[in-house]
Amino acid sequence: MSKRKLTRRQSWRIEKIQAERSARAARRDSLADEHLAEGELGPEEHGLVITHYGTQVVVEATEGLNAGTHKRCHFRSNLGSLVTGDRVVWRDGNPYGVVVAVLPRESALCRPDPHGDMKTIAANIDRIIIVVAPYPEPHANLIDRYLVAARGIGIEPAVLINKVDRIDDATREKITYLEQTYRRLGYQVLKVSTKTNTGLDELTRYLADFTSVFVGQSGVGKSSLVNALLPDCNLRVGELSDRQQGSHTTTNAQLFHFPGGGHLIDSPGIREFGLWHMEADEVLEGFVEFRPFIGHCKFRDCSHRHEPGCAILRALAAGDISQTRMDSYRYILSTLDQA
Ligand code: GDP
Ligand code: ZN
Repeated sequence: MSKRKLTRRQSWRIEKIQAERSARAARRDSLADEHLAEGELGPEEHGLVITHYGTQVVVEATEGLNAGTHKRCHFRSNLGSLVTGDRVVWRDGNPYGVVVAVLPRESALCRPDPHGDMKTIAANIDRIIIVVAPYPEPHANLIDRYLVAARGIGIEPAVLINKVDRIDDATREKITYLEQTYRRLGYQVLKVSTKTNTGLDELTRYLADFTSVFVGQSGVGKSSLVNALLPDCNLRVGELSDRQQGSHTTTNAQLFHFPGGGHLIDSPGIREFGLWHMEADEVLEGFVEFRPFIGHCKFRDCSHRHEPGCAILRALAAGDISQTRMDSYRYILSTLDQA
């Protein structure tokens, strides 16, 4: 939040928005209470939030005879905001169920809303799959930005090089460099082509154990990957977009199950994840090979630019940190300074 003083008009607007918000919350609570009081609800059971529409969520039953079926549910505002991927306790009902509790989140993807407040858009993600391709050529630093951002929220990243069928003389060197660099740093690197089906089996196996999101610049083949991995996705996407007609929820994240195990959480908002806000001190930590040297500089407030006794610069000179990654670190920092 900015520290500058708000104008009267801005304060008035904020008060108005907050009043509207509490009115909405009260309406929602009374709906949830009505359903709870009707006594026609089933027993408490575990479920998974598949997607959300403002005041309602779609919950998938994860136990019992109805496991795998979906139900729209109300929830009380004291549960906070429920998001795709949340694990909940809920009670079945007609026509709507009610969510009565949310289990603690293991991770959360957030992004700033138009008011500058951080808003959670998906929960319990284990893997961020950074998709790049020979074409469109990867923007400089893009992988590093995603790696830093993933580290900032404690989710394991992997690098997926898609469209390997399109590697040619102009791009071979760069792609090989990316592959080797990130493997050497200890990251999982997968090579795939949705055109020739190269690497799809390995990718399927890799995804089977996790809840993943695909991120990366437009045109690298994220939609193609989703279609290749979710054969019945067209049907589901169609069904979901039908329900969304006339509402402003088209960017809401949705959870899909891979046939071979594992889950995908997808939305345009998530695909742009790497462009979200990062804190300056998270950037250094996000460079995995820098970590052994952090805290070993002579000066506590070392900027790692020119100081004598800088452990990071020493590692650079010794070749433990590559010039390219150092440049990338400096570039990412400079983009934060401008913000
Ligand atoms: P998105 O913007 O990341 O969702 O990318 P799309 O899935 O829309 O793909 C962009 C373009 O790349 C489309 O023309 C696809 O047909 C093409 N494409 C996707 N995957 C591959 C691949 O493995 N090989 C080749 N040659 N083209 C691909
Ligand atoms: Zn230093």
